[in-house]
Amino acid sequence: MSRRPDGLLNHDILDADKGPQDACGVFGVWAPGEEVAKLTFYGLYALQHRGQESAGIATSDGKRILVYKDMGLVSQVFTESDLATLPGDLAIGHCRYSTTGSSTWVNAQPTLRPTKYGTLALAHNGNLTNTGELAELVQKLEPSTGRDRGATTDTEIMTALISLQNEKNVEASAISVLPQLEGAFSLVFMDEHTLYAARDRHGVRPLVLGKLETGWVVASESAALDIVGAAFVREIEPGEFIAIDENGVRSQRWATAEPKGCLFEYVYLARPDTLIAGQGIHVTRVAIGERLAKEAPVEADLVIPVPESGTPAAIGYAKGSGIPFGIGLVKNSYVGRTFIQPSQTIRQLGIRLKLNPLREIIEGKRIVVVDDSIVRGNTQRAIVRMLREAGAREIHVRISSPPVKWPCYYGIDFATRAELIASGLEIEEIRRSIGADSLGYVSLEGLIEATQIQENKLCSACFTGTYPIRIPADMSEGKMRLEISEVHSHE
Ligand code: SF4
Repeated sequence: MSRRPDGLLNHDILDADKGPQDACGVFGVWAPGEEVAKLTFYGLYALQHRGQESAGIATSDGKRILVYKDMGLVSQVFTESDLATLPGDLAIGHCRYSTTGSSTWVNAQPTLRPTKYGTLALAHNGNLTNTGELAELVQKLEPSTGRDRGATTDTEIMTALISLQNEKNVEASAISVLPQLEGAFSLVFMDEHTLYAARDRHGVRPLVLGKLETGWVVASESAALDIVGAAFVREIEPGEFIAIDENGVRSQRWATAEPKGCLFEYVYLARPDTLIAGQGIHVTRVAIGERLAKEAPVEADLVIPVPESGTPAAIGYAKGSGIPFGIGLVKNSYVGRTFIQPSQTIRQLGIRLKLNPLREIIEGKRIVVVDDSIVRGNTQRAIVRMLREAGAREIHVRISSPPVKWPCYYGIDFATRAELIASGLEIEEIRRSIGADSLGYVSLEGLIEATQIQENKLCSACFTGTYPIRIPADMSEGKMRLEISEVHSHE
């Protein structure tokens, strides 16, 4: 893997305009007699959209745990022969986009640590909000470990804490550590014999349980169960811990559930073929688009999506407005994650590396272009320019989420508050900035109605600034000091 002298991966350069990035995808399987490393590989493949910087798999054959991880996409990290070196009856896997800690090999997951009762491997989706306090606890338990050892992630600190407990096994250690963790975490972990999973009390990030003919699977999204042939059983509940071994699935509550599921999963993060709370994400996004058509109508000739994340909402907008749906932008899905060093000339192509307009469809038409969100505004500005160059007569931008005004501290890397275009500009100013003829967002109320989840069971902090889990001052870049239950407006 080539790396630039400034430490950035080469794909970071192409992704200067990148939208919201999820923290990670996690997968675990307990299935003696099956090729667990391969099942995990395909599970991670299905979760690749949740994290594209590194990938890793840990397996156990009952005697020892082996981990293989590296920087890159799942398909770049593992070859058939790599997977053949990972035998076993159970496995966990992870694909990562860094939210805490830098993008380096040492921070790739699963993490691995010896304990007094065996070995612990752990993978995490989310972001802890009390990492500083936890790192101090680790330092007290084992002064030579913690951040000074080179690990910079909340996951490494969590792994250390569980492994340093004076309990009789991993299960008891985890149960004593989980209540000390604050923030968002969907965990899969294992020792030599047992697969474990746990979800934070708010259930911010998704985690589901599935059944194979010969075993069990846990995964960030139900789509990963489908792809490995597992039947969806249920969501792992907020505040629930499960252990899976030859005795089946054992469940216990380590905290009372206080659900605050991430609203952005419905807008962008989850795959369209995933189910959350029993409802398909694609159907929800179509409903958001229909609502958007009612709330932000416009006279136009054609509705086109920004592929692929804008597609279901564009279908909904077309349905709700009666304006025909069409394809006006073609996505080159893979170029954004190339590891080839781009030259200055290539870098200047920007969005053109990823999207190409269909001139014969666009020319002379009044176009509604539907996207899922606006983060910095660079992508939408480039798309509007591209559509004008392709001959569009009018360009009306419609967004299937409310303005993103606040950073996420629960595992999504949007940008800093200063970089979020909607934190400093009103909608009309954003319209001018991106060069559209009109701009409309769906309302928060409209978005929440489309999810069919009660408002008080969702996190919507990036839209409202009301953070359901306390954010310590040291996480807020010195810009915000938020306490639970405080209501904030950016004005
Ligand atoms: S702040 Fe936004 S992205 Fe982060 S968990 Fe809440 S709704 Fe999701």
